[in-house]
Amino acid sequence: MAEPTLINELIDPYGRHVNYLRVSVTDRCDFRCVYCMSEDMTFLPKAEVLSLEELERICSAFVERGVKKLRLTGGEPLVRRNIMWLVRSLARHLISNALEELTLTTNGSQLEKYSSELADIGVKRINVSLDTLDEEKFATITRWGRLSQVMAGLRAAKKCGLHVKINSVALKGINDGEINHLIKWAGDQGFDLTFIEVMPMGEIGEIRFDQYLPLSLVRAKINEDWTLEESDYSSGGPARYYTIRETGARLGFITPMTHNFCESCNRVRLTCTGQLYMCLGQEDSADLRAAVRADKDNSALFNAIDDAIARKPKGHDFIIDRRRDRSSVPRHMSVTGG
Ligand code: SAM
Ligand code: SF4
Repeated sequence: MAEPTLINELIDPYGRHVNYLRVSVTDRCDFRCVYCMSEDMTFLPKAEVLSLEELERICSAFVERGVKKLRLTGGEPLVRRNIMWLVRSLARHLISNALEELTLTTNGSQLEKYSSELADIGVKRINVSLDTLDEEKFATITRWGRLSQVMAGLRAAKKCGLHVKINSVALKGINDGEINHLIKWAGDQGFDLTFIEVMPMGEIGEIRFDQYLPLSLVRAKINEDWTLEESDYSSGGPARYYTIRETGARLGFITPMTHNFCESCNRVRLTCTGQLYMCLGQEDSADLRAAVRADKDNSALFNAIDDAIARKPKGHDFIIDRRRDRSSVPRHMSVTGG
């Protein structure tokens, strides 16, 4: 008699259902944001990076094990050569309904070129990182970026019907005077907006404490000018959402520093070298590159995934203060994907 089908979804030791995979497809980037990278960043040797075919196999294995949402990130995902091949291949899981969402986090620099193809492939929503609407500040924050390029990308995305969420990292003394402007602009554009607290990841050649702006302060300032209505919307992630009555747009807050959101964590992260991190803020990882290269039938890969999920930790312990101005984890955000 045939064996009954086993429930093979990924459940961690704390009963959390892992149904979301974020994949850093490259650690390289065309920007050098001050909170993310140092200007003279050393990138991984290309030989260590998984091929697009290997990334596709690993993502598809996760989909087979119940992952419903895939987010491609980086580094800058849209600077990886032939990235559209990967997006197109993964989109077959949308067509089969195995996957509910295929999405990207991008700095927007390549959106003018790729928006129409992304929409055509079946990508519905994208996150675009933008911390300021001031050209000079934008150049200071990103070091190598131009605001006009990102704005052109955003126009293209909108025109193609992609639903855009803007991610803004709150930076003390840099964009704290622009919060209202960002909210108004996002509302006018029909974009949702999420503020993020800076996290102590990787050495960046700058003092983190000087950048860190707790979102509790941002929130208090927003309350002076806008009416935030509780929203039960959830993107399945750590953001808490509100609707801004005056603009009708959604506003999210990601507060890893002031509020720990680990109890509802449903995600794991794959680096471009095939290391699977079960927590953004912890060092333990599983080597899926060795597993994907071990055999063609994915049995080593599935075993490695199961072992990894069984080790998913309870949570992170990020701290930024004056006395401890060093990274909680040595990896940059661009390695694990934000
Ligand atoms: N390059 C793409 C982008 O900027 O959207 C994708 C990768 S980037 C690492 C993903 C997100 O992480 C961005 O929204 C970025 O602002 C955020 N990020 C990078 N370093 C961070 C840090 N140390 N703390 C908080 N957010 C960070
Ligand atoms: Fe590049 Fe994104 Fe990091 Fe900025 S935040 S340096 S755009 S990976």
